[in-house]
Amino acid sequence: MEPEEGLNQQQSPRVKLSRRSFLALAGAVALSVPLMKAEAVAAKAAGKKPIKPKHYVTPPGIKTRKHFHEHCTGCHLCVSKCPQKVLRPATTQYGLAYAMQPVKDYDASYCRAGCTRCTNVCPSGALRPLTRDQKLHSPVGYAVAVHENCMGCGECASVCPQKAITMNKEWLPVVNHILCIGCGACQYACPARPVKAIYVEGI
Ligand code: SF4
Ligand code: SF4
Ligand code: SF4
Repeated sequence: MEPEEGLNQQQSPRVKLSRRSFLALAGAVALSVPLMKAEAVAAKAAGKKPIKPKHYVTPPGIKTRKHFHEHCTGCHLCVSKCPQKVLRPATTQYGLAYAMQPVKDYDASYCRAGCTRCTNVCPSGALRPLTRDQKLHSPVGYAVAVHENCMGCGECASVCPQKAITMNKEWLPVVNHILCIGCGACQYACPARPVKAIYVEGI
């Protein structure tokens, strides 16, 4: 995966990896790359469209993606304090230059609309403290419906806290990007397999 646009390609000077973390990262990268390939192969074999976001979703409270990458030290305080367990250390999602910085995993969980905990514990300024109201007006992404993969169950629309999803005449989801805040509840709830029929693109 290419490092993110506009960012230099070296490891962030602020993320210092111990030998142990480096070995853990190398192991995680070695596992994640074949896993992503296997998912794409399974999707194709099932006649579904593989999903590959252009930008993975960051924690809330960032100023810009560049500022986040330049200031995050990879301390993982946000990861450990997240009550939803939706944050995890990145492997290749941001490009190797920013491995170990926190990334949202909406296949594993979602970001609760009323929660701002990570933004209030970050010691480096990578995340600015948000109030609940500020968070609701600071989207971190937007949902993208993949109709080719959809079985029309309507689960995404029923869980969306923003009421940003409606089902069209064919009973396929349509996302209102003005209302969507990128919380990931729809992606997490979507039962379509082997690939989801809705995912969140980071901004
Ligand atoms: S806002 Fe809360 S639920 Fe969302 S990522 Fe941060 S700590 Fe987790
Ligand atoms: S708490 Fe802040 S500095 Fe630490 S990993 Fe999270 S975003 Fe990065
Ligand atoms: S990410 Fe999905 S569930 Fe969350 S606000 Fe957007 S459409 Fe609704």
